[in-house]
Amino acid sequence: MDAREIRIKGIVQGVGFRPFVYRLARRFDIKGKVLNDTEGVLIFAEAELARIDSFIRAIRDEAPRPAAINEILSHSVEPTGASDFTIVPSEHAEGEVTSMSPDIATCENCLAELFDIDDRRYGYPFINCTHCGPRYSIIRGLPYDRPQTSMAIFEMCDDCRTEYEEVLDRRFHAQPNACELCGPRYSLLDGAGEPVKCSDPIFEACNMLSDGKVVAVKGIGGFHLMADATNPATVEILRDRKRRPSKPFALMVRDIGVAKMLCEVSDAEADELGSPAAPIVLLKLRKNPAFELPSSIAPGLDQLGLFLPYAPVHYLLFAATGLPCLIATSGNRRDEPIACDNDEVVRDLQGIADAFLVHNRDIVGRTDDSVGFIFEDNLILVRRSRGYVPKSSELPLSGPPVLATGADLKGCFALTRRKDAFLSPYLGDLTGEKSVELFEEVLERYLSWLKVKPEALVCDLHPDYMSTVLAEKYSNQWGVPLYRIQHHFAHALSVMAEFNLPDEPCLAVALDGHGYGGDGTIWGGEFLLTRYDEFERLGHIFQVPQLGGDKAAIDTRRMALSWLYAAFGEDALQRVPKLFENLGGEADLLLDIARRNLPPTTSSTGRLFDAVACLAGICCENTFEGECPQKLMAAVDFSEKNAYDFAITSNILDPRPVITQIIADIESGVSANIIAAKFHRGLAHGIVEMAAKLCDEHSLTGILLTGGVFQNRVLLELVVNGLRKRKLKPHWNRSIPPGDAGVALGQALFGINKLRADDRDNS
Ligand code: ZN
Ligand code: ZN
Ligand code: FE
Repeated sequence: MDAREIRIKGIVQGVGFRPFVYRLARRFDIKGKVLNDTEGVLIFAEAELARIDSFIRAIRDEAPRPAAINEILSHSVEPTGASDFTIVPSEHAEGEVTSMSPDIATCENCLAELFDIDDRRYGYPFINCTHCGPRYSIIRGLPYDRPQTSMAIFEMCDDCRTEYEEVLDRRFHAQPNACELCGPRYSLLDGAGEPVKCSDPIFEACNMLSDGKVVAVKGIGGFHLMADATNPATVEILRDRKRRPSKPFALMVRDIGVAKMLCEVSDAEADELGSPAAPIVLLKLRKNPAFELPSSIAPGLDQLGLFLPYAPVHYLLFAATGLPCLIATSGNRRDEPIACDNDEVVRDLQGIADAFLVHNRDIVGRTDDSVGFIFEDNLILVRRSRGYVPKSSELPLSGPPVLATGADLKGCFALTRRKDAFLSPYLGDLTGEKSVELFEEVLERYLSWLKVKPEALVCDLHPDYMSTVLAEKYSNQWGVPLYRIQHHFAHALSVMAEFNLPDEPCLAVALDGHGYGGDGTIWGGEFLLTRYDEFERLGHIFQVPQLGGDKAAIDTRRMALSWLYAAFGEDALQRVPKLFENLGGEADLLLDIARRNLPPTTSSTGRLFDAVACLAGICCENTFEGECPQKLMAAVDFSEKNAYDFAITSNILDPRPVITQIIADIESGVSANIIAAKFHRGLAHGIVEMAAKLCDEHSLTGILLTGGVFQNRVLLELVVNGLRKRKLKPHWNRSIPPGDAGVALGQALFGINKLRADDRDNS
């Protein structure tokens, strides 16, 4: 008889892993035990060696769907003569905690029971099992056990307890296990937050939805504002109440069939929609006269964010309303994280929601819906939250723990433990008070889960960022060093970190809206030579004044004017006069700033997109972040194969000739769709030329594409293909957002590398 100790690391807790191991042990006639500890799952297996090997293989091959095994280690131990195989209850041992499971969309088995009239959980909106249900959102402490979750206050009834204790049951140790008798419940509040007396609150809420009303629905990670997406009047009312004139609404669709009626859905996209994480996937709208939604859902855009129901309550809403799709937008105030507390929501959304469908289980970890799109069959996450946090990313370096505080616009921190970086969920815009509170609250939880004490802080170079202020505070409080790192360099390192690239020079193409340059200018169109510890700015987009500073990011006529001045000088205002008509005297003032080339000047690619969208007459105001660039992308006519010519001079990618060509096109009546296409092609071509030139000069082959601009799939595709044709090897962010929510990961890599270097210097 042989015996082995088997250690399994990864997401193996809270996903039914121990019962799975137990069932396999029975199948292979293995004796011993399995237990959860703070490092993952530990198994003692006694049998003949060959059987143990098959057992380990089966663990790897047959693991339940939401589990993710990172590592299986095993070594020989002394047999103890065990006579059976047992599951040992969790121990609250000191030390490290394994990675936790994210929230998991309702599984097929639970769904079948939900609609089975003979099942005891028929219609029960909190049905779950070890393969699905809430995890991150209900966990207060680790290890993951019921008393450490917001299910602790619900005493299991006898039936639930029996399932929970029966090893062969699908609900064995399902921590959120519950039923109608013993578990959480929904109730309905009216628009003023007063309880509505009714026997079936969900059914009542459905009546309201069918009636064109707006209902705030408490789900897994927070509240959604829900409304009938097929009713134009309802969409208008919601836009009006939310003061949200044109930002697209995400839609929850009844099933994949509805998704396919609304949008083009590839196999990869369908897989992603139906994955355990169930993110919002941005899909290309299709023209379908048989099923058209009000154009006010996503005005001027060619894509729609769709997702499938992922909590039992969502399925019940669709079943009772019979609606094909519901607007499901985060219940929050602008740029704030999703709201999750009953009282908070009633306070914040009064006047917006006609009713509140709430429940009595606390949401401990609030998470927004994650958002992504498919490129070359892989998901690129734009927002990484529910379904993905708190999964860790493996860094190419191991070192002492580091806290990186990210950037402000898309709040997200990274906390590391050895090789693993744990990114926080999306925290909202850190200029808001609530986001900062949430930052500190989530950080506290992460620190206690991971049981680490950071030995360094890393933040952005920007002195006024809230993320910088927070980093300074913690650095003082903990008495540890603070490293500051340039924004676009951190973007670049986020790609090196995500793909575990070695510490060898790469060319980073970092394109975004803005980042603090450190030289008094705003950066955002950067070509950087990067290594783990330093970077060199090899080139950038031509810099022009950002007329009126931050205002120019909203009123994009200002950037249009700045670029016109750069291209035409004093003639600028005369080129597209009607654009500037109602700027009045301000136009001359702005022109004067341009003339004197006053700071701040910017190399921002986002602002260049703004200017072109405005000049082409597509959109002159960003009522939400990225509106002009997204509409410019949506306008692209793919049949157009011509491109505008950027100039490349002494490492400057210069769009001035493009502005001249655009004006010539406008004057000869070329359509906005053609202009949009020629701009995208021209920019991609310019980026590829510039990158190829710099790679050649510096003997580089690896290219990192990063920054929010690469959320533009048209540009990304053109650039990737162009680089490949030049035999260059591009990498771009996927599981880590290319936008500012990914910056923290790059910062973390920088910090670990720096600590290791400092250690070497000191020894
Ligand atoms: Zn289930
Ligand atoms: Zn029960
Ligand atoms: Fe950025």
